[in-house]
Amino acid sequence: MSEQGNEQPVEMTVETTVEIVELDRHECRACGYVYEPDRGDDKRDISAGTPFEELPITWRCPVCGAKKAAFANIGPAGLASGFKENLGFGLGVNNLTPTQKNILIFGSLGIGFLLFLSLYSLK
Ligand SMILES: [Zn+2]
Repeated sequence: MSEQGNEQPVEMTVETTVEIVELDRHECRACGYVYEPDRGDDKRDISAGTPFEELPITWRCPVCGAKKAAFANIGPAGLASGFKENLGFGLGVNNLTPTQKNILIFGSLGIGFLLFLSLYSLK
C-alpha cells in the first residue's frame, strides 16, 4: 500500500534556450579558412544560416578549393574555449595589479630614497 507514485518525475527543463541554435563552424584543414554558418558564403550563393551539413556536395573551400571532406568541425562560434576562465583571470589580475604596482613603485621609491639618504648620512 505504499504510494510512491506521488514522487514527481524530474522536471523537464524544456525552456532552455531553444531559440539559440549554435551551428557548428568548420575549418578548412588545407588553408585554415573557417566556414561560419552565420555568414554563409557569398561567393557560392550560400545564404547566411546554412549549416555546413546542408552545403551542396559541390561546395568547395572559397580560398583554396578543398572539398567538404577536408573540413573539420570546430564547434559553434559562441563557445570560444576558455573565454570565461580568461575573463575571470583577467579581472583578477586587473584587480590586483594596480595595488601591487603601487606597492612596488612606492616601495622601491622609498627604499631608493632611504638608500640615497643613507649614502648622504655616511659622508
Ligand atoms: Zn581551404
